[in-house]
Parts: sequence; structure tokens; C-alpha cells
Amino acid sequence: MKRTGILFQIVLSLSLAALLVALVVGAAAQRSEGNRMREQLSEQAGLTISLLSGLMLESIIVEDVPVLETGLYEALERTPKIRSIQILNAEDMMIATATRRGAAAQEEFVTYEQPVEMEGFKFGTMIVQWSMLEGQAMVQERVRYAILWTVLAVAALSAAILGLLNMLALQPLQTIHLRMSEVLAGAHGRVGKLPWYASREFWALNFSVGVLEDTFIERNERELALERACEEADIANQAKSEFLANMSHEIRTPMNGVIGMAELIMETDLDEDQRFYAKTISKSGAALLTIINDILNFSKIEAGKIELDLAPFNLQTAIEDVVTLLSPKATSKGIEIILRYDPELPEFFEGDVGRIRQVVTNIIGNAVKFTDIGHVYVDVSGEKNSNGYGLTINVTDTGIGIPEDRLDTVFSAFEQVDSGATRNFEGTGLGLAISARLLTLMGGEVTVQSTAGEGSVFVVQLPLPLAEQVEEIPVKPLALQGLTGLVVGSQELNRLILTEQLNAWGMHSLEASSASQTVEVMLDLRLTSDRLDLVIMEDQMPGMDGRELARRIHAMPEFATLPIVMLSSGDLAAMQPDQVGLEGCNIIHKPLRAAQLKQVLGRAHSHEQPEQSATSPSSVHPQKAHCIKLMIAEDNRTNQLVVTRMLKDAGFDIVIAANGAEAVERFKEVRPDIVLMDMMMPVMDGVEATMKIREIESASQSPGCHIIALTANALESHREKCLAAGMDDFLSKPISKKALLAAIHDWIEDPQDLGAEVRLRQT
Ligand code: ADP
Repeated sequence: MKRTGILFQIVLSLSLAALLVALVVGAAAQRSEGNRMREQLSEQAGLTISLLSGLMLESIIVEDVPVLETGLYEALERTPKIRSIQILNAEDMMIATATRRGAAAQEEFVTYEQPVEMEGFKFGTMIVQWSMLEGQAMVQERVRYAILWTVLAVAALSAAILGLLNMLALQPLQTIHLRMSEVLAGAHGRVGKLPWYASREFWALNFSVGVLEDTFIERNERELALERACEEADIANQAKSEFLANMSHEIRTPMNGVIGMAELIMETDLDEDQRFYAKTISKSGAALLTIINDILNFSKIEAGKIELDLAPFNLQTAIEDVVTLLSPKATSKGIEIILRYDPELPEFFEGDVGRIRQVVTNIIGNAVKFTDIGHVYVDVSGEKNSNGYGLTINVTDTGIGIPEDRLDTVFSAFEQVDSGATRNFEGTGLGLAISARLLTLMGGEVTVQSTAGEGSVFVVQLPLPLAEQVEEIPVKPLALQGLTGLVVGSQELNRLILTEQLNAWGMHSLEASSASQTVEVMLDLRLTSDRLDLVIMEDQMPGMDGRELARRIHAMPEFATLPIVMLSSGDLAAMQPDQVGLEGCNIIHKPLRAAQLKQVLGRAHSHEQPEQSATSPSSVHPQKAHCIKLMIAEDNRTNQLVVTRMLKDAGFDIVIAANGAEAVERFKEVRPDIVLMDMMMPVMDGVEATMKIREIESASQSPGCHIIALTANALESHREKCLAAGMDDFLSKPISKKALLAAIHDWIEDPQDLGAEVRLRQT
């Protein structure tokens, strides 16, 4: 809306006021002038009638009509204001009348009636109609004058008021307003001063604007300084991040030498002392590496440099991976990690699987670290909501617990409950701080409840959307629906989880908590001839162990071919069933993976022969690999040595290149099947060398070799960079022999038929 100026508003108001005053004055003048005119008229009329009745008294008494009428017409002629005259006798009978010729019918008039008397005796009545025409014209003339003068007076007064208002109020106000606008716009001192005659109030206002101006100047200066400080802090932060990344790189490279060499030393013949020293070197190296990783991670989060890499992933597999990774440590301590993944929960979600794995690994790893007796129970469940699922991951342990007064501090950086010099547990105190911050970044949180001496429960809440399009993994249809399975195990929780899982696949289930109870159940079944399709049993149970129980079951003629699936956490899993006298049994190494169990159950039921257990990484056999050419592109001498030694027994044909450019040259000559490529090298780095190699391959239309990045840069962004350049895999230093062989093994399923396999991957 367009705003009007104050001057316009005042002019408009004054004009309206003037109009109002004119109307009031006009009305008042009209009334008073009208009254005055009426008074004058009645006075005149009274006088005229008295005069006429005196003159005509005699004629009225004798009722001499001709004389009376002549007299009346004469009177009409003499006095033009008289419209008509009537004379009535004493009995009120009309005796004479005269009306002026040409008198208009609608002409306004006043009627006066007066008795004709003498000495108190009434002889008749005279009625006169007196015309108002002239009087009215006069009254209107006077009213017009009154209005005109009033309007002129009001206009003059208004003009004077406007002038004064402009000078005393508007101009000073305008000056102050302009100054204020300039202050707000950041310009100073360009507006003129207040006029000398401005009132005290305006000077006070002007002073306040001055104070405001000073405050603004001060604020702007402060903001500028702050901006500069922020820029400087940003640069410093950047430098810190780069320094940390570089430092981590620089430390990792020699650490690779230390850890790799220690690992190699341990493979040689050592006496007890030497083995102990080498083990200590290896363990200390690994501990140092964890600390470096934690610090790097933490400072990245603090610097706000962590970006989530969102992609569809299988949550169940991710958590099973973590449990598998941590299980050996748990088993070595004599505790078990039990995992329940709610069968109702979908498997595929969208999120940063690396970060989720990192958080879960830390929390389950802590639970294992701080528990010596009992178990660690991981329960994954979720509630559906409008955006996907609100997941809850509960990690319950039966470990040392956390004293109540320390519960708040465990999520702070560098805080450890047992922080004395005589600490029993290793760690930096950064794990939970990192986890909590990562969860916040992902919109979740972690909380803890604990009783010292009894155990702790860490609860992770994490909202995750469902993955939109997940490629269907073709699974062999399994006919588990309607089968009955007997679940045998001493741990109730394990039985419950298994039963829940079987039911989710449409199976019926029976339970037995010991070998003797199992035998009872079997005997009952023999009597009732109820159906039993398979048995899933723990290998280790108090009393009779699983192996013995399996033999007993198979000894019963009715159950001689009953499929048995044995869940083992011991050495048994490393062996073939026939090696331990368990022909017809399937052995699954704990921790249990749902997909694996489903597959084994299906296979056991259809009495397929168990597949050869997956080849372990170390089974890349010398003879099998002998024809494979492998190039190590690495500038560091120690690392060249470490990797060569690690691979020495695998029988590869090894070529070494000391930098990227050399790697490209040697690639042209040798055409290796596998390249282990360092990222940072002089002359040409690993990324560029990989791109060059890929170019050569596509130009010659030869099958692609497998390039595995070996790098001291442990960050996810580096992994992406490697893969984008055309590398196939990524190993971060320090590399263990096991991981290296596993990575190579991933790419050579059948070394004899490497060419065919390579072609397969190309298509
Ligand atoms: P650390 O590297 O020391 O494990 P964390 O940040 O992961 O660092 O844990 C911080 C501290 O919280 C640990 O040192 C330990 O005192 C306590 N803590 C964490 N998890 C548990 C647990 N499950 N039981 C008992 N104490 C725990």
C-alpha cells in the first residue's frame, strides 16, 4: 500500500475541518438571519395592518365594500410585499378582499391576522398575506457571505499552521530520519545538522540516533574482526585436518614395516623369548594404529569434515559381519556374542553402512572387552514410522558395568572409567565419543544403563529410511515351510532366537535344553510317530556334547538319516563332518548368520551333500597360484620387502615397480594379472598410474587386470577415489598377511582358470 505524506494528511484534515465549520456556520447564520427577518416582517405587517385598519375603520363599520376594495388595491400597490388582504366583519364574514395581480401560487408568504378594534370593541378582522420572497433572498445573501468569510479565515489559519508545522517538526524529523537511514545503511556523517530552532525533543532524538550510530560502527568493526578470525580459524582448521591426514599417512607407512615385519618374524623359528618380543611389537603396533585411527576420526568429526555416504545396504548382514569379526575375541575369552535380528524387520535400508558398522563395532567391541563371564546379547529391532524405521540396537553385556556417577562421562572424549595408571583395559577413551557424534550426525543417539559389577546395556536409536530399490538377490527357493525342527541348546536365549527365526520361515519347532532332554523328546516322538524333519543343536553342552548326541540320534533306527545341523564355536567348525565322525551332519561355525542357516537347513532337508567349506584365505595354494603374475607398485623399500615376504609362499610371479611411471612401463612389458598399487608415490601417483593402465587395456582390448590399492590413507574418500580411478579393491595400511591374501583370493576363485574368470568380470 502506498503511504501518504503527513503534509497531505494535514491538508486533507484541515480541508475537512473547514468544510465542517462552513456547514455549521452556514446553518447557524441561516437560522439567525431567518429569525431576524421574521421578526422584522411581523413588525412591518403589524404596523401596516394597524395603519390600514385606522384608515378604513369607518368603511368597515358600515361595510362599504367598493371603498374598502379601492383602498385595499391602493395598499397592494404601495406595498409590494403584501400578497393579498382580506377584511372580515364582526361576524367573521368576508366583506372585502384584494389579491395582487401576478402573485405566483407557490410564492412563500406569512399570514398575519389582526382584529380591527376601537376602544375595546371589535368591528372586524384584517388578514394579510405577506410575501417572503425579498426577505429570503436577503437572508441567503447574508449566509453566503458568512460561509465565504469563514472558509477564508480557516484556510489562512491552516496555511499558517502548515508552515509552522513544516518548519518546526517535519524538517527536523526529516533530517533525523535521513541520518537514521544512513546509519542503518552503514554510511556515516553525510547528512546535515538539525536547524537551530528545532525543539528540545528533536535534539534528544538526534542524540539517541548518534548513540545508535556509534553502536553500529562498533558492531560493524567487531563483525569484521570476527569474520577475519573465522577465516583464520578455518584456515587453521584446514591445516590441522591436513596435518592429521598427513601425519596419519606418515605414521602408517613405517607402521606397515613394523607390523608386517613382526608378523613375518613370527612365522620363522623363534625361541619363546623371541616370540614374546615379536608378539609384543605386533600388539603394540596394532594398538598404536587404533589410537591413530581414533584420533584421525575424532578430529575429522570435530572439524565437521565427515560426510555421510548414503547408499542401500543390508543391515542384517552388516551387523552379522561385526559379530563375526568380534566373535574370535569373545570365544577366546570364553564368552559368546548372541545376535537376534527381529525377523519382522526388513533387511535393506538406506544409510552409511561404514559408519553404522563403526558405531556397532565399537559398542559390541567394548561389551566384549569389559565382559569376562557370561555373554554379550545384541538385539536389533525397529518400529515402522512415516520415514522408514526407528531402529533400536540393544547391546547387553554381563561384564564389569559402569559406576552410576561415571555413566554421564563415558560419551565424552578421552574419558575412561578406569583411567588410573594401573589400567587393566587398553583404549583411547575416544570410541564412544566418536560413536555418539556419528550417531548425532545420522539423526540418532546412544544411551547407557549400567550397574557396576552386573553389566551394561547400550541402546542405539537410529532412524533409517528403507532402501528404495534393492536388487533382488536370486535365492534358491527353499522349502522350509511346514517342516518341524528340534532346537537343542543349553542357553535359553539362543533357543528362543533360533525358534523365533524358524517360525519366521514357517517352520514348527520343538525345544530341548540338554542332551538327555533331547533323547527324551526323541523317544516320545518315536512313540507318537510325530513328524520331525531336522535337528539344530549346539556343539557344546554340559553333560553330553553335541557330537555324542548326534551319534546317539543316528543310532536310533527311526532317526538314522535325520538331518542334523551342528552349531559350533570351537575347532570343530574348521573340520569336515566326516573328519569328526559326523557323516550326514552339517556344521555351521558360530556366530550364526541367518542367510547361512537358511541355506544349510534347506540343503540338509533335501539331503544334499554339504558343500566344501569355503576356502580360507590361506588356501591360495602355492601350486595353484604359480602362474599368476603380480606387480607391486610401491616406493617404500621396507614395504616392498614386507609385501614380497608375505606373498613369498603363495608362489606368485612378483614384479616390483618403484613408482607409478615405472608401474605403467612394467605393466606394458609384463602384463600382470594383479597389481598392488600404492596411492602416494613419487613421479606418478597410484591413481594416475591406474588410469594409464586402464587406458592401455582398453586400447589393446585386453582383459582387465585386478588392481588393489594399498594405501596409508584410511579414509572413505580415498577409497572412493581409488575405485573411481578404476581400481577394484582397497586395503589400508598396515596390511596383515591374512587381509592381503584374502583380498587377492577374492579375485582368484579358480587360479587355474584365471583368464576365463577375468573375462567373466569384464562382461
Ligand atoms: P575405550 O577406547 O577406552 O574403550 P570408549 O570411549 O569406547 O573408549 O569407552 C569409554 C569408557 O567407557 C571405557 O574406557 C570404559 O571405562 C567404559 N565402557 C564402555 N563400554 C563399557 C561396557 N560395555 N562395560 C563397562 N564399561 C564400559
